[in-house]
Amino acid sequence: MYDKVLVRFGEVGLKGKNRAFFINSLARNIRRSLKQLGPGYSVSAPYGRLFVDLPPEHDFNAVSAALQKVFGLVSFSPVVRQELDMELIKEAALQELLADGRPATFKVAARRSFKNFPLNSMEINREVGGHLLRNCPGLKVDVHSPQRVVNIEVRPEGAFVFSRVIPGPGGLPVGVTGKGVLLLSGGIDSPVAGWLAMKRGIALEAVYFDTPPFTSPRALNKVERLAGILSRWAPVNLHVVNFTPVQTEIMKHVPEDLTITVMRRFMFRVAEVLARRVGALALITGESVGQVASQTLESMAVINSVVSIPVLRPLAGLDKVEIMDLSRRIETYDTSIEPYQDCCTLFVSPRPKTRPTLAQAEAAEAKLDVGSLVDAAVAGIDSRTIWREEVQS
Ligand code: ATP
Ligand code: MG
Repeated sequence: MYDKVLVRFGEVGLKGKNRAFFINSLARNIRRSLKQLGPGYSVSAPYGRLFVDLPPEHDFNAVSAALQKVFGLVSFSPVVRQELDMELIKEAALQELLADGRPATFKVAARRSFKNFPLNSMEINREVGGHLLRNCPGLKVDVHSPQRVVNIEVRPEGAFVFSRVIPGPGGLPVGVTGKGVLLLSGGIDSPVAGWLAMKRGIALEAVYFDTPPFTSPRALNKVERLAGILSRWAPVNLHVVNFTPVQTEIMKHVPEDLTITVMRRFMFRVAEVLARRVGALALITGESVGQVASQTLESMAVINSVVSIPVLRPLAGLDKVEIMDLSRRIETYDTSIEPYQDCCTLFVSPRPKTRPTLAQAEAAEAKLDVGSLVDAAVAGIDSRTIWREEVQS
């Protein structure tokens, strides 16, 4: 039974104040993720290392699964605490060596910070190594590239033994780089874009443009469930915009081949106001260069020109199959392919302009009261926080 988990994080660029901020954020996110498993878990950061203390009754697989969903965590190791007695330490080392399949080669790496312990680290290495060799016929020592390193840290409060290294999801702790507004539709792409942004430490403020009664409540429910899946990594705030008044004006006044361009321009305008309001520093979309008519570089330029906030497009360099693979991995795929249409699929013209110009878009908007439409849309935003909440379908 394990007592602790030693957590490793990427250290690149972590200096001074930045380091404390990073470690505190990671500790907070780990605490939040373990909360779902019940009470008794605590996180501490002695000497710049991060430890999780486990309650006596725990399911390590569940702990491991919860830690796999904390960005910023590069790898982690379950640790056993043993009394300061060489016979017990040797036994603990043997159990640990065999805990995750038997390796062909190993080495023991002891560290003694408790100087009153009778053996020094070299002596501990030798004694424990001998014990492991005697008990595992065929096992060999390899000091340069062993398959398994059995670490033994001797401290006043006990001997800590660990050897398994379990990979974490990498990335940066969610929140350390700031907030971003994710334009979240019900499709395959935008949830993946949001996940990639989260992986780089961005806390998500998701916005969905809803067009009732043209789109069904099922479409909104699908977006809520997608936000719910993303929130397995970190809480997501979901903002729902009633886009019907904008949509209705567009259908009345905008030439059909420009509707998608103008719709997107309105989405960006509303998202930018929302971003300023919630303190977000960027918009995030699921656009991928060249995928559809509205994602040509010309089209992106015309849409992008209505905002001054940076727009991140994490999928810009990915092919559709790569995006689909990622969406399966993060478990949004099955929900994304449900057939409820959002406004973009519903209102798109059969022949949209693939190379709209700014002048055409501005002329198309001339009959619309852009300012009041945006203000009204922002005023009617319905917001809520989603955190591991299973939204029912
Ligand atoms: P997705 O798979 O994310 O729906 P898509 O391939 O269907 O993307 P488009 O329909 O061109 O592409 O949409 C491009 C991006 O615009 C989406 O990835 C999303 O970020 C944003 N978007 C589109 N429709 C909406 C909507 N109704 N609400 C919020 N964002 C939207
Ligand atoms: Mg879509």
